[in-house]
Amino acid sequence: MEELLRGWDGEHVVVRYDREADAWIFIAIHSTRLGNASGGTRMKVYDEPQDGLRDALRLAEGMTYKWAGVDFPMGGGKGVIALSRPLGTPERDGLLERYGELVESLAGGFSTGADLGVGPDLVQVIGRETTHVFGTRIAGDPGPWTALGVFTAIEAVAQELFGSSDLSGRTVLVQGVGDVGIPLAKRLWDAGAQLKLADINAKHVAGIAEELGAEAVDVEALYDEPCDIFAPCAVGAVLNAQTIPRLCCKGIAGAANNQLEGPEDAGRLHERGVLYGPDFICNSGGAIALLGLEALSMTEDYVAAKILSIRDTLKVIFREARENNESPLHAAERLARRVLERGPA
Ligand code: NAD
Repeated sequence: MEELLRGWDGEHVVVRYDREADAWIFIAIHSTRLGNASGGTRMKVYDEPQDGLRDALRLAEGMTYKWAGVDFPMGGGKGVIALSRPLGTPERDGLLERYGELVESLAGGFSTGADLGVGPDLVQVIGRETTHVFGTRIAGDPGPWTALGVFTAIEAVAQELFGSSDLSGRTVLVQGVGDVGIPLAKRLWDAGAQLKLADINAKHVAGIAEELGAEAVDVEALYDEPCDIFAPCAVGAVLNAQTIPRLCCKGIAGAANNQLEGPEDAGRLHERGVLYGPDFICNSGGAIALLGLEALSMTEDYVAAKILSIRDTLKVIFREARENNESPLHAAERLARRVLERGPA
């Protein structure tokens, strides 16, 4: 653990060993340059507690870049509850309540919400002991807000590729028709796009495809499917050494977190001439809505305008990437660093 902390460039980490549940709690505050730290809480069984710490440090840094990339006044943080074994409901809820007390003791320096292993129902449990949780009050399901951001990101990709953001007649392939994929598909359909949909749940995707007059695509074949823009909205690591050579799309913008299996995949896409909308920019709509509405007292109109500004942000990123002949990922990271250097707007 000492080595991990020495090698980290964040601000501080709160560490607590929970004796009752034999679990480790890590709250990593990577940067408060733009505002109080905020990020979801992940809870899972780890082989070693340090694996949980490693996740907390890495994910907190990711949150710093996510907020800075869209110039939002929040800092990067993440909570990780590293379990040593699966817990029954009463034991789990007790642990989450004690975690809530810990979050409360930070007096707003860290606020948190759902992540892997902590769904909205468990955020409510944490919220029994702290007000510094999001996703429990007014914002509700973030999926449609995330979909709005991905939709406008797809428009930005179309603008850069075709000189027009008009999606009518453009073919968009959506992978994963869930909380984000469904409202995204509906927006695309309204905009006149030709839709292709893929989901591991074949029955579910067939129903949505029929409703929208879309084509349901086999999940195994989706990487070979011709389309203008690919929108990964299912799981991470779908863009990798195996799938990138198969892609028959011109651009990518989607909701899934960590779409690239590794940083080298940004270069692979660039070499193939596929325009990549960085995930942490394209999928920030839900986070903006949750924090904007619940923590920062923004109106829905203001939040929507902020999410729609993802399109302008991507315009700048794509232009810089074009001028430097580099992946948009690098241009996006540089933009985030510029915002962090500048400080709060
Ligand atoms: P979800 O669970 O509601 O939907 C995901 C869908 O993908 C499901 O219908 C599932 O059957 C399908 N799926 C799973 N694996 C698949 C595969 N290999 N191929 C095709 N389909 C597959 O999730 P969601 O809330 O819509 O989120 C989708 C992605 O976007 C996730 O990676 C999530 O982390 C990310 N994300 C979501 C939000 C949000 O607001 N919900 C915000 C930011 C990022």
